[in-house]
Amino acid sequence: MYTYPSDSECAHARFAGLIRTSVRRARIVGFDGIGDQPTAAGRRLKPRPVVRPFRPLSVAVSLMVMFGSGQFVISIDLEMSWGAVHHGHPHDNAPYRREREVVEDVLGLMAAYGMSATWATVGHLFLSECQGLSDDAHPDITPSYPWLAEEWYDLDPGSNLDSAPTWYGADLVDMIKACPVPQEIGSHSFAHIIAGDPACSREAFAADIAAAVAVAAEAGVELRSFVYPRNSIGHLGVLEEAEFLAYRGATPPSIRRSGLLGRIEAATQMIRPTATFRAEQHGSLVNIPHTYLFDPGSKNARRLGTAGWSRLVQRRLRHAIRTQSLFHLWFHSHNLAVDVDRAHTAMEDLFQLARTEIDRGRLVNLTMGDMARRMLAERVA
Ligand SMILES: [Zn+2]
Repeated sequence: MYTYPSDSECAHARFAGLIRTSVRRARIVGFDGIGDQPTAAGRRLKPRPVVRPFRPLSVAVSLMVMFGSGQFVISIDLEMSWGAVHHGHPHDNAPYRREREVVEDVLGLMAAYGMSATWATVGHLFLSECQGLSDDAHPDITPSYPWLAEEWYDLDPGSNLDSAPTWYGADLVDMIKACPVPQEIGSHSFAHIIAGDPACSREAFAADIAAAVAVAAEAGVELRSFVYPRNSIGHLGVLEEAEFLAYRGATPPSIRRSGLLGRIEAATQMIRPTATFRAEQHGSLVNIPHTYLFDPGSKNARRLGTAGWSRLVQRRLRHAIRTQSLFHLWFHSHNLAVDVDRAHTAMEDLFQLARTEIDRGRLVNLTMGDMARRMLAERVA
């Protein structure tokens, strides 16, 4: 096992067929085809050309000076049944039961290679039992989405960990806290509500966040990093008021053309990445955009095979090291349940490379909270 230095800065079987389908419908052309948008309506968004945003050189230079290395951030969406049950498909919870196996495996790799991640956990998973909406732990105000016939908590089983293990996860929270290499437990909302949907009022989001903060506090966890369900961003001011420091934004556009030229550009990026990504401050929050979805069931992973896909992922990390930029790997724990062996092999290859580069001083591994603290402290200073 990796001995963690105490003073270190480190801080779905394609059951997701159902999830993946709804997510894919909502993707727009972007880096590796990633770029999640609100999926409420399940409407296919028409690919459109995107424009590279203007980035002042001074921001990039100051971040390079601040970190003096590539930045490796890992965020994991831990949501179980809450991530899928509201989205219009019959809910089969059987595959989600593999998530405990995945979490255990990933934590083992974190411990072996001294890596820290941000586990963006749905607040309801902090519980081991509840009585549904009447339970004090649940928010008083809930969003009422036109695309959902039921109210949000009508689907809450009001049960317990033994009877409904994919709705409660107090044991998972304990498992993450027990990792010998410190991990950050962040928030993925209390009940996986879609914040960017116009039907989600500020009050409803604030009530959800208050519930998430309260249940985490009861478990001794201060929430500082937030990952929006479905990457649907909204009501950032609520996060600021709740003293969050970081949120995960969308991958900035890196493909500048649509149609055939865009596909050629995307393929070129895959072979030889050129786009660089950096965290940016927004008000009192730091936006740490995701830059790569680690998905062993993706088209690329299946086409390339384990070894080829693993090399592709490593290329992304090497590029971030070379350019002293951000590599923000993200996934849902259920993504890895699709092919546990492939996920394990590629993640271990990646962590071996990362460990070597960290030891050489060319890379830092940061949780989202750590990265935000460093950037915000630098600004104050
Ligand atoms: Zn409940």
